[in-house]
Amino acid sequence: MSVQVVAAKMAEVELKDVPNKELSAVSPVAPKTDEKGLSNTDLNASATSPAVEPAVKGDPSPLSSAPSTAKIPQASAMKRPDPQQNGGEAFVNRDGTVAEAPRMKKQIQFADQKQEFNKRPTKIGRRSLSRSISQSSTDSYSSAASYTDSSDDETSPRDKQQKNSKGNGDFCIKNIKQADFGRREIEIAEQEMPALMALRKRAQGEKPLAGAKVVGCTHITAQTAVLMETLSALGAQCRWAACNIYSTQNEVAAALAEGGFSVFAWKGESEDDFWWCIDRCVNLEGWQPNMILDDGGDLTHWIYKKYPNMFKKIKGIVEESVTGVHRLYQLSKAGKLCVPAMNVNDSVTKQKFDNLYCCRESILDGLKRTTDVMFGGKQVVVCGYGEVGKGCCAALKAMGSIVYVTEIDPICALQACMDGFRLVKLNEVIRQVDIVITCTGNKNVVVRENLDRMKNGCIVCNMGHSNTEIDVASLRTPELTWERVRSQVDHVIWPDGKRIVLLAEGRLLNLSCSTVPTFVLSITATTQALALIELYNAPEGRYKQDVYLLPKKMDEYVASLHLPTFDAHLTELTDEQAKYLGLNKNGPFKPNYYRY
Ligand code: NAD
Repeated sequence: MSVQVVAAKMAEVELKDVPNKELSAVSPVAPKTDEKGLSNTDLNASATSPAVEPAVKGDPSPLSSAPSTAKIPQASAMKRPDPQQNGGEAFVNRDGTVAEAPRMKKQIQFADQKQEFNKRPTKIGRRSLSRSISQSSTDSYSSAASYTDSSDDETSPRDKQQKNSKGNGDFCIKNIKQADFGRREIEIAEQEMPALMALRKRAQGEKPLAGAKVVGCTHITAQTAVLMETLSALGAQCRWAACNIYSTQNEVAAALAEGGFSVFAWKGESEDDFWWCIDRCVNLEGWQPNMILDDGGDLTHWIYKKYPNMFKKIKGIVEESVTGVHRLYQLSKAGKLCVPAMNVNDSVTKQKFDNLYCCRESILDGLKRTTDVMFGGKQVVVCGYGEVGKGCCAALKAMGSIVYVTEIDPICALQACMDGFRLVKLNEVIRQVDIVITCTGNKNVVVRENLDRMKNGCIVCNMGHSNTEIDVASLRTPELTWERVRSQVDHVIWPDGKRIVLLAEGRLLNLSCSTVPTFVLSITATTQALALIELYNAPEGRYKQDVYLLPKKMDEYVASLHLPTFDAHLTELTDEQAKYLGLNKNGPFKPNYYRY
């Protein structure tokens, strides 16, 4: 069975200046992305791409209550952001909990050839392995507070005999005893992930993923657990590793292991552990994955490098992050992609939720947690009035702050004016503002000259993907003193005693210092689940060895699954109205070039 979804083929993808043409040039150069794998991808570019015309019709599945696909609209041609554009250093990919490292253009050097996974190095040995760690694996992300234990048990999970209460030992986690605690975390997350819960209900007796063997590599958090348990309810078998060495919620991993999932992850893995866990997911006698769910591309890459034959059985890849998607396009361009792949990163709903709504919620959280600042009456300048800037401005305005905006684009500038914000040049207000926030995706937006002129106590932070928006390097000079006053909070002190409060050393504030709402992640997780169902059930030939964008119809479906949370009542088109507008009554309701 299959959800009635038609994927639109991604047309012309521009990858300018990509140094390595092939992914496995073993070294995926991290594109300029934010931590959550977001890009400035222009979905509205030109609508020139031919639509792929697959569509499973007449599927009686409960899931096919997704609006049926009639005429498939043309997919928008989509430009990929230029990975070099903003000065090189790309910030972390998807997603983050604690301290996160800035993205670096490092090579993933697979010591695969040399590494023996059964031969376990000593603890020191493991940590001292010199391979540079994957981009995603150092990104840090978690949307939920983790009560992950800080127990003194220093024994590596790899050195422990582990079994759950049913005697199953096909997992490797920190501490199975935390399972009950993790279960509560998962139950809390379920409340904010209504669409996945709805999918479970709608599938009921039918199992659209029956026979699916999904190997996953994502952040292992309560939200991921809800996704995994949904996939399982839909019939899939899952084996999972973490895409990030810091972001695993140990108690959640324990709950999953207790529930029978083969999870290989713990918080604070070494790099060697990281690859070992991935390998344990795929390298198993008598079990071969037929679907990949990846976040960052490391799992996909590992299979390409170590087990290329596995792709004979793999029906498709679902990739969430900008980095991973970028790698897939590189592979595709080089003619080396051997299965169809779904890019879930660039769906409209995901972009809107990640950029506008997520930032509207998390900017205040990030500032409050780090500084305890009161927002009412404070003067704030927000640099950039795109999606992220709009979210930040709206939240601050609602809290009673006086908000100024800087922009380079007259359209966004005019929007700022119409929304009631004063459009200024940074220099005009830099002496008086209490908070400076950058959200441009650009570099050197706040430079030393600006920092010199700020008033005592000014808070400086960045919400854009790159840590190049604020010229932090210019503050590392002998006459300035740095004082770490809290985690992620530095006071930079001038010789005259003036100090500015620099947050997360100029890295992305919300993902470094706050949480991301579960509801935002629900959108992504639902899209991932639907993409897996679609790829798994697609008839032969519907998808080629290429990267596909999820169609607007699926975006609409994901949104519609979230509406009941709000007791929202959607108006249905009458036949007459549908005819008048030239629409199918079940959607899609907008052309691809529509700007939401
Ligand atoms: P956007 O392109 O919609 O907005 C950026 C705006 O900044 C544009 O309007 C642009 O004209 C403006 N700009 C560029 N250079 C400028 C300058 N020197 N001065 C003033 N304005 C300037 O992008 P977006 O979706 O708002 O994302 C912005 C950044 O935030 C990106 O780097 C994105 O990856 C990142 N992001 C962060 C999060 C998060 O959770 N913190 C979420 C999504 C995206």
